[in-house]
Amino acid sequence: MPGSTAVAGGLVERIGEPTGRVLYWSQAGAKIEREMPVADHRQGLTQVVELLLDERQGVIGSAGEITAVGHRVVHGGEKFSQPTVIDTEVMDTIRELIPLAPLHNPANLSGIEVAREIFPEAAQVAVFDTAFHQTMLPRAYRYAIPNALYEEQHIRVYGFHGTSHLYVSKMALAHLGKPAADTNLISIHLGNGASMTAVAGGQSVDTTMGFSPLPGLIMGTRSGDIDPAVIFYLSERLNMSIPEIDRLLNKQSGLLGLTGVNDVRDIQERSEAGDMAATLALEMYAYRIKKYIGAYTAVLGYLDAIIFTAGVGQNSPVVRQLVCANLESLGIVLDEEKNAAGETGPVSEIQGENGRVKILIIPTNEELEIASQTYALVGQNK
Ligand code: AMP
Repeated sequence: MPGSTAVAGGLVERIGEPTGRVLYWSQAGAKIEREMPVADHRQGLTQVVELLLDERQGVIGSAGEITAVGHRVVHGGEKFSQPTVIDTEVMDTIRELIPLAPLHNPANLSGIEVAREIFPEAAQVAVFDTAFHQTMLPRAYRYAIPNALYEEQHIRVYGFHGTSHLYVSKMALAHLGKPAADTNLISIHLGNGASMTAVAGGQSVDTTMGFSPLPGLIMGTRSGDIDPAVIFYLSERLNMSIPEIDRLLNKQSGLLGLTGVNDVRDIQERSEAGDMAATLALEMYAYRIKKYIGAYTAVLGYLDAIIFTAGVGQNSPVVRQLVCANLESLGIVLDEEKNAAGETGPVSEIQGENGRVKILIIPTNEELEIASQTYALVGQNK
């Protein structure tokens, strides 16, 4: 930094499962793939650091060369709306927020602990996935349930994917060149998890995920919006326990529940081959997104651009076409050829000539956004 060039990258997959995988690449041409069980996040991060320090494949000579480590922390509750240097108090607060993010915050904490041991000289910075949505007004983030449940239990909309929505919004604002304060966007993040955010003047005003990442759009394995009364019915009629229903809605629903597979590529192939369930799943998936485009256009008043990002948003012309079909009345008109061509640069415009609203494909880059925020907070001081 501040060059924002990735000199090395990688991924640790299937942590805690019988088979795992560590992937590593460097700008200099290293490419390593290790099939190995990875017991926990500590072991995973230790592998990462060994690779970074490796004499032949690594990119740093010693741990002391790292000035700061940026951590993606999923839940910052109402306490964190900005990237934050991690001290003991911040660690305690992330720990206090575990009930709100029981799967993610413990893993994030163990990442921070290990990074502190390995890079004792470096500043540790937390970048919260909820932070970008802290600008929402109470009318958007409150649920119409008794006040005490908000005041005492902190039950409200938090929203997630904030780092991604912020990154692509900033890219779109820079591309459009209009004053940010007068620019309205809808950011559509379609990965395995999926959410949309209405962005006015660079700030989140509403988002489809809520208290948890479960509501809103149909996702790989999550149901998205569902009548909460279905949960009571499952409990009473089928005698399902709360953990069973939790698993059903988070891990066995969405595209997986509708088709048996959760990868949009497979579903598109099946649909092309005449599989009716796959075709219906794609229609439902796009219809839900279309409904929120309508809702957020109403919320924003007018619209300058919609942004497609993440695995599906960046790579599926079929989904983009289904989403944008018949939205001429909102000024949204897709250019078929540009849509089929897909990404042609950091920001690709794919709207038709008579479309008033820009339709953009912008590859998300949460790692770069986390690094930039970390650098802005602590980089220059070192
Ligand atoms: P992400 O969570 O952003 O990595 O996105 C992962 C999802 O992107 C996968 O589940 C795939 O369904 C989807 N995806 C990746 N490539 C394509 C593609 N070429 N066409 C359609 N979907 C894709």
